[in-house]
This record gives sequence, structure tokens and C-alpha cells, in this order.
Amino acid sequence: MRQSHLFTKTQKSAPKDEVAKNAQLLIRAGFVHKEMAGVYAYLPLGLRVLDRVKQVVREEMDALGSQELIMTSLQRKELWARTDRWSDKKVDIWFKSELKAGGDVGLAWSHEEPIGDMMRAYISSYKDLPTCVYQFQTKLRNEMRAKSGIMRGREFVMKDAYSFAAGEEDHDKMYEGMKQAYMKVFKRLGIGDDTFVTFASGGAFTQFSHEFQTVCEAGEDVCYINREKGIAINQEVMNDDTLKELKVKKSDLEEVKTAEVGNIFNFGRQKAEDIGLTYKDETGASIPVWMGSYGIGVTRLIGVLAEKFGTSDGMLWPRSVSPFQAHLVSLAGGNRDLIAEADRIYDLLKENGIDTLYDDRDVRAGEKFADADLIGIPMRLVVSEKTVAAGSVEVTNRDNGASQLIPESQLIERVR
Ligand code: ATP
Ligand code: MG
Repeated sequence: MRQSHLFTKTQKSAPKDEVAKNAQLLIRAGFVHKEMAGVYAYLPLGLRVLDRVKQVVREEMDALGSQELIMTSLQRKELWARTDRWSDKKVDIWFKSELKAGGDVGLAWSHEEPIGDMMRAYISSYKDLPTCVYQFQTKLRNEMRAKSGIMRGREFVMKDAYSFAAGEEDHDKMYEGMKQAYMKVFKRLGIGDDTFVTFASGGAFTQFSHEFQTVCEAGEDVCYINREKGIAINQEVMNDDTLKELKVKKSDLEEVKTAEVGNIFNFGRQKAEDIGLTYKDETGASIPVWMGSYGIGVTRLIGVLAEKFGTSDGMLWPRSVSPFQAHLVSLAGGNRDLIAEADRIYDLLKENGIDTLYDDRDVRAGEKFADADLIGIPMRLVVSEKTVAAGSVEVTNRDNGASQLIPESQLIERVR
């Protein structure tokens, strides 16, 4: 893509009411646009990152055999009344509306009830189990505080998956598989070493739920971690009983601020019983399905990456989710021969399938480099009078700042 065609422009400063570093950075670089507190639009650059994060998650979900679908944002009151979660007293983040034709609708803050209810149409026998589905869907939550930029949205993208099993053994297999898939996702996004499977509250059937917490100064949670042992405990369940249960001493744990990037729940048979989702076993008896629910905060993750890998000068994306593979910066100025050379290199990259952002704008070199820093593509290629004279392209690995002149004949191989 030619940068001269990109309608977004970088900005010197973020809106004054934006206090979160992640959103300040992403707004300045043109990844997101702030619509209102907690509500952000994803612009071309931001959408590319969003799609790439989704793709990493999708690959790991597909590898588990989970099947992708997409549910609706408008939900029936009756479904949530059935499990006693329609009331604002029970769920304090509901957005609700009314149909002109009459009747209440809820705007999706979660899809546990609608998915469970829908599966009643497809699960009837033990032969239909186990199975697992997932989606990327917009969740709408009337969050009281929305000061963490895209890390706490009133509208945000979640990957939510749901497993259905006949019994505990099959359930446990899926639950463990999901746990490992989540850790693979976080590793691929470059935050594997800082993300912990965490004991947290909220277990409906079990004593704990498992959260995935990433060490992050801007996070809203506090956890106690032991890196060697790979143990993490959310402060909300940090007490003598938990320590005893997990066989750790408080003095072996370090207190850190964290962001919850995922959360998984084992519902046992309770949720399906409430919803009325049952299967017939070999004897024909009707039994509630064993359910699990698994969330990843897709847009929150992008915020966490911005917090962890961003500086005041800009972003540095992990390669796995960078909006482009390479940022080609032309320092041709108004020189036609140099422009032709830079265009030729751009075409060469394109022909070889290298997804490239090409800074072909007629602006000062300093401005180009500042923008490249802000946008944060980890590989930068420069074409200038000097590189053209050497029949080379300057390749900079922004991860470590190392720069090298690479002969054109080796460029594609090197970039790959
Ligand atoms: P939190 O404790 O942060 O409010 P939650 O426990 O309500 O989150 P879940 O319902 O478990 O969240 O949702 C699954 C995942 O979705 C969370 O682990 C988090 O990563 C993400 N998430 C939750 N709320 C938001 C939000 N308001 N904005 C962005 N991501 C969110
Ligand atoms: Mg949670």
C-alpha cells in the first residue's frame, strides 16, 4: 500500500481526554479513532492488526477442532431471564433496548445463554458430543469506568468459545486443550513469558476459574506470581486457603500489576441445566451437557501490546501481528530517477508477496522516520541516493536497531 493513499495521518498529540498510553499511541499513529470514551473505530492500519490477531487465535482454535460461527448482537430477554441474569442487579453492565413492535432485547455483553440455547437444536444424543464452537464478536458492556483506552471498551471484540461434553473426562480434555491453545496464542503474540495461567474467582462449578493475566503496568488487576514455578494468583483469591491449596508461601510470590487477557470457566452441568440443554445417554436418560466457556479479549490484547511494546516515540509490533511485513521508506525527494528506483523496489516486494507499506510521500526524511517509528512495523527498508548507488537497500531490524545494506539480488530472501 502506498502511504500517500492512506487517508489516515499521524498526529503530534492525542485527544486531551484520552489518558491511556495505549489509546494515545494508537490514535496518534492512525490505528484507531476515538468515537467516545470506551468506543473506538478501527482504521485501515488498526484493522490489519485486529485481523492478524484474530488469525493467530483462529489458527489455534481450528487446531483444536473448534468450529467458527457468529452469533447475533440482539438477544432475547427470555433467555437471560431463564438463568436469572436479565436483571441489572445481577448483571450491572447491560445495554438494553426495546423493539418498536414490542418486547425487550438485550445487546450482547456475553453469548453464553444464546449459544447454549441454540445448541439445543443440534445436540440431542451423546453421539453429538463432544463438540466446541467459537466466534469473534462485538461485545457491548455498559462499563462504569472506561479510562484504560482500548483495554476496557464499552464496545470491544472478544473471541469466545464454548465446549459441550457428555461427561467430565471429555470436558477436561477440551479445557486443558484450550488452556494450552491460549498459551500458544500469547507466545505467538510475544507476551508468552509475561502471561500466566492464574487462579481467580468466578468458578461456578469449580473453586477457581482460570484467568490469563499479562504483567502490565496499565493493567487493572493485581496478581501474585512466581516466575520459576509458573504460578499466579489473582489478589481476589489470595488468602491462606489458596496458598495452602497451591502449596506456595506468600514470601515466594511477587506482587505485580496485570491485565486479564483471557478467562476460562468450567460450568460442570449447572449452566446447561439452567438453560435446558440436555442429551440422551445410551439408556435414553436425559442429562444436562457439561459446558465450558472460554474468552480472549482480542482488542484488549492489542492495547496490551501497545502498552508493553510502545514508547513515547511509537509502537513496535511483534512480527506475528504487524500491520505490514515491511515499511519501505523512499528518500528520493523530488529526484525522478530515485523515485523510479524506489517504485521498482516496491514492485519487486509486491511481486514476491511481501506485504509492504510504501512511504512514497514527498515529505522530509525526518518526518518519514518519525512516522515509521510511530507506526511500528519491525522491518524498515530505505531507498536513498546512497543505497541506489550501491545497488542495495538499507534493511533495519527495529527490534534491535541493526542496519545493513543488502544487495538487491538478496533482498527478498533477506526480508523473508
Ligand atoms: P474484567 O474483569 O476485565 O472486567 P471480565 O471478567 O468481565 O473482565 P470476561 O467476561 O471473562 O471478562 O471476558 C473475557 C475476556 O474479554 C476478558 O478476559 C478480557 O480479556 C476481555 N474483556 C472483558 N471486558 C472487556 C472490556 N470492557 N473491554 C475489552 N476487553 C474486555
Ligand atoms: Mg474475567
